[in-house]
Amino acid sequence: MTGPAKRLPHTDAVVIGLGWAGSIIAKEMVDAGLEVVGLERGGWIETGVDFNINTAPDELRYARRQELMLQTVQNTVTARNNSAQEALPMRKWGSFHPGNGTGGAGLHWAGITWRFQPEEFRLASYLSEKYGDEVDPNLTLQDWGTDWSEMEPAYDYFERIAGVSGKAGNINGEILAGGNPFEGARTRDYPTGPTIPTYAPKLFAQVAEDLGYKPFHTPSSILSEAYTNIYGMQMGPCTYCGFCTNYGCANLSKASAITCVLPALVRQQGFTARTRSEVLKIETDSNGSKATGVTFVDSDGQEWFQPADIVVSAAFTFENVRLMLLSGIGTPYDPATGKGQTGRNYCYQTANNVRLFFDDKEFNSFIGGGAIGMAIDETNNDNFDHSGLGFVGGGSTRVGPIGAPPIGSRPVPEGTPKWGSKWKQATTENYNRSMSIGCESSSYAQRGNYLSLDPNYKDRLGRPLLRVTFDFPENDLRMSQYVTDKIEEIGRAMNPRSIERNAMTGHWNTVPYQSSHVVGGFVMGADPETSGTNKYLQSWQVPNLFVVGANAFPQNPGYNPTGTVGALAVKAAWAITRDYLKAPHQPLVQA
Ligand SMILES: Cc1cc2nc3c(=O)[nH]c(=O)nc-3n(C[C@H](O)[C@H](O)[C@H](O)COP(=O)(O)OP(=O)(O)OC[C@H]3O[C@@H](n4cnc5c(N)ncnc54)[C@H](O)[C@@H]3O)c2cc1C
Ligand code: SF4
Repeated sequence: MTGPAKRLPHTDAVVIGLGWAGSIIAKEMVDAGLEVVGLERGGWIETGVDFNINTAPDELRYARRQELMLQTVQNTVTARNNSAQEALPMRKWGSFHPGNGTGGAGLHWAGITWRFQPEEFRLASYLSEKYGDEVDPNLTLQDWGTDWSEMEPAYDYFERIAGVSGKAGNINGEILAGGNPFEGARTRDYPTGPTIPTYAPKLFAQVAEDLGYKPFHTPSSILSEAYTNIYGMQMGPCTYCGFCTNYGCANLSKASAITCVLPALVRQQGFTARTRSEVLKIETDSNGSKATGVTFVDSDGQEWFQPADIVVSAAFTFENVRLMLLSGIGTPYDPATGKGQTGRNYCYQTANNVRLFFDDKEFNSFIGGGAIGMAIDETNNDNFDHSGLGFVGGGSTRVGPIGAPPIGSRPVPEGTPKWGSKWKQATTENYNRSMSIGCESSSYAQRGNYLSLDPNYKDRLGRPLLRVTFDFPENDLRMSQYVTDKIEEIGRAMNPRSIERNAMTGHWNTVPYQSSHVVGGFVMGADPETSGTNKYLQSWQVPNLFVVGANAFPQNPGYNPTGTVGALAVKAAWAITRDYLKAPHQPLVQA
């Protein structure tokens, strides 16, 4: 870094990170008349400039070399399974794929856009009322401090920003055929109709229905039709190009902050975006109870201080938690005592699937898009009775043809040689004759899983890396076997030539990709002893700091997170613009 930090002119609010969460909050604050500076560590990415329809489907560039993702040379994490081990740095992303640049990971995401169920927001209370001592005492489940009546309007608003495609299963308590019968009561339907499934999800839905399940269209931020969102941004219907997850969309069909929010926001006078600007620390006054602004470093290595009345940290789970630890906000979590807010309740997602190989079916596997497909929810959360099963939780089961690009998608049955002519022959025979049923499952907090600063490894600027201590709880491994049994039954009813089962077993391994749904670490709640923020995502310790993202989840249900990240961003934005500004620096909830 070059020299001492230079001071920039004061602004009303500074937002760290311009993914979904940061962009929405910045937009809502600018609409409310505030002057806002957005700081983003990556570059400015926009559809018209960066994603030409002829070059966007470049598997080598985007999926293999991970061009849209954070480069580990800039920042990474260290990882270990338990406190007795020494954590080592991830030098290539495997297990998860953090974003970088405008749009964040919500640019190269798949677009599956769930609402969590109402019970989720009081999960600890709900499960203890229903199952009492049957719940594994090693789990450290917590309530969120909010409820459905507060979440539903925020979900609804986010869905109208993203233009989410789907079919309602429950409007004002009326269960509707063709939708998810397990969803919480919504006030109205999705803004756009469901995407049309390709052959594999259609087949799955047919067989699942025959077995008594109630299949429905996966809620999707991959749009089924033309749509103009509440900020005036226009999107077009998806063409099922098959280069979706890990890629940007040249078609303006995949909702993201660069499609739905930032093009409107940058035209507004109150907003300034500074890209390639990495926030190093949230600065506070001498007693640590008021944020004075943030320090960041630009791409020339120059340090700057941006003074602001309001600080919003929307840098996603890992970096939100690291910034809290580096800035002395909250007490670092201690797994020995179970005390401390910062780093606690880190959770992941438990990924399971079965892969089917057929002789008599052709899937045209190259056709697809991230969230297109059909789902069932009978296997999820507490949608089935867990009495006597020895675990809680579950997962949403889906068939989603995300596209099968030529390098990475080579499904072959177990026992096939890994190279040579036999392997080549098997890839030719099976490429179009294989599909999988996935089950995105819950990950519940346990005492020994947490985030902290690494004592040994530092980033390029000399700051400690974030250390991830995580292993799959016994509860989740048992759940994984159970839900995989269920999806295997559905798979067998489809009469494949062979079936392979991939339930989660053993220890968390950082190498294969599993899920980017890392959550918790600075959770929301009603108790300042066990949560970093109140239900408005406002820091208990520093009332002019809002910490927004999946770090707020006390545990992870069997759904993808971004519908809820978007809803929490809306909730925080409304809290700031409607309530906080009336009495700045005051807590919105009394501890
Ligand atoms: C391959 C993939 C597929 C996914 N598919 C789905 C899906 O189908 N459904 C779903 O619900 N979710 C999915 N996700 C997860 C989804 O991408 C995230 O939940 C979502 O992006 C979170 O939004 P966010 O704004 O909180 O964080 P992000 O999108 O990560 O944005 C945070 C931003 O902050 C910036 N930043 C970080 N640190 C700093 C710093 N110190 N200074 C300045 N800027 C900083 C980052 O560069 C980034 O742009 C997927 C993720 C991946 C990687
Ligand atoms: S599959 Fe659809 S949404 Fe995804 S990148 Fe292609 S056109 Fe865009």
